[in-house]
Amino acid sequence: MNSPEIIEPPIEARIDKAELVRRLAGVLARENLLHKTEDLHPYECDGLSAHTQVPLAVVLPENEEQVQKVLRICHDARIPVVARGAGTGLSGGAMPHAQGVTLGLSKLKRILEIDPVARTARLQPGVRNLAISEAAAPFGLYYAPDPSSQIACSIGGNVAENSGGVHCLKYGLTVHNLLKLRIITIEGELLEIGSEGLDAPGYDLMALVTGSEGLLAVVTEVTVKLLPKPVKAQVMLAAFDSVVKAGEAVANIIAAGCIPAGLEMMDKLATAAVEQFVHADYPLDAEAILLCECDGTEEEVAAEIEKVGAVMRASGAVGIRLSRDDAERLKFWSGRKAAFPAVGRILPDYYCMDGTIPKKRLGEVLAGISRLSTEFKLACPNVFHAGDGNLHPLIMFDANEGDQAQRAAAFGARILELCIEAGGTITGEHGVGVEKINEMCVQFRPAELATFHAIKHAFDEHALLNPGKAVPTLHRCAEFGQMHVKRGQEKFPDLPRF
Ligand SMILES: Cc1cc2nc3c(=O)[nH]c(=O)nc-3n(C[C@H](O)[C@H](O)[C@H](O)COP(=O)(O)OP(=O)(O)OC[C@H]3O[C@@H](n4cnc5c(N)ncnc54)[C@H](O)[C@@H]3O)c2cc1C
Repeated sequence: MNSPEIIEPPIEARIDKAELVRRLAGVLARENLLHKTEDLHPYECDGLSAHTQVPLAVVLPENEEQVQKVLRICHDARIPVVARGAGTGLSGGAMPHAQGVTLGLSKLKRILEIDPVARTARLQPGVRNLAISEAAAPFGLYYAPDPSSQIACSIGGNVAENSGGVHCLKYGLTVHNLLKLRIITIEGELLEIGSEGLDAPGYDLMALVTGSEGLLAVVTEVTVKLLPKPVKAQVMLAAFDSVVKAGEAVANIIAAGCIPAGLEMMDKLATAAVEQFVHADYPLDAEAILLCECDGTEEEVAAEIEKVGAVMRASGAVGIRLSRDDAERLKFWSGRKAAFPAVGRILPDYYCMDGTIPKKRLGEVLAGISRLSTEFKLACPNVFHAGDGNLHPLIMFDANEGDQAQRAAAFGARILELCIEAGGTITGEHGVGVEKINEMCVQFRPAELATFHAIKHAFDEHALLNPGKAVPTLHRCAEFGQMHVKRGQEKFPDLPRF
């Protein structure tokens, strides 16, 4: 795996750990302040368990005021702070800092208000994604962005990662479903950004904070939009005898002017893994399947199913099934939603990549991943948000077997380069964290990275919030450039090497 080592200017703390604990104990109940090694280990990583780090302390505030006080203490003492929601992130964003405090927001989990007239929900950051739709269901409403981790992940984490999910193709990512945020800066200043209307005056700070991976501020309250539940939803399961044809079908569906509620792809390796686990009744002889959900009124669904079905057949679908009722629709989705754990049952380790490419390049990039799989001798099922062009190749390996972990890391980096070459990006929805920080040097030019640092500096002068994540320093890129000289061209030749 990439080195989790943090290449940042060292942060000079003004106090030692004992003094820090003493100050934090002044604002938190004893059970909400963890500082003994054995209590800290459960927080040493997020969903990217290859990177671990024990923090100095973990704090679990119970209200916004305590969050504010903790931030002020850490700012005064120049102690790094890493916010943590449910810890399901897959890029190491919530991995602790060795000299820092992990600020766990799991105890701020109250649904403050559901307003069925305005169709909004006001939430504390630790509320689980799925709990929002559960609370809104009695009003015939739901919250659209649905990451596959929705049973566990928190809305604060969703905001920080700008998370997506199966239904984001039609209904947008987290950022498109937010109205307002309350955030606290590292200096302890409480700000409200966004508004309850469609627009807010001034710069769009809410969009800036969304997806900022805990680097700009800590989110302490989220107001989201709720949508009426569609009258009907139906899933089409289409089988293909080639992954490339399935990829082309996705591009053709969008080109035909259809925006289905969800459009997901799984290849043969993925359906085989899933079928043993959840028995979703997938066709195991197909090289790839597409799951396409259409929703709306009875008439809208019928019309869209007909149009999508025609495109699927013209693109080479060899079999098409329609969910007959809601139970079968949920069964078709159950396999997709359980794909990651299903793969995890086959080999001890998997490395989930998260790149995004233009949809018209899906077929060729999938073929490229398949070639890399042969080159690196590691199996790589694909299961992903095809309609968004958001790939999730799952590189399977056993870290205890020879050099498999190193091969998996190199394979992953090549996939991301493939995404960039196809005109895409190195992250779709899982963020950069520590995992893809080196690839940021490939994606962005020094002038762009310098702009990111200027924005960070405007919010967090001493770089205390989640240091070493998401935005690489130019020096880091210089080091990375030294390691990865591509086609003989050294990156950032004007920066000093060290
Ligand atoms: C099985 C599985 C499936 C997944 N499927 C999807 C998917 O379909 N789509 C998708 O987008 N992601 C998916 N993910 C990734 C992950 O669930 C999302 O990124 C999620 O939004 C993380 O939420 P969390 O509460 O766990 O955040 P954490 O992992 O705790 O933190 C993530 C980042 O957010 C920051 N952060 C957390 N809370 C706050 C806050 N209140 N204020 C400021 N910063 C904060 C952290 O510092 C960190 O940088 C999946 C993960 C797993 C394990």
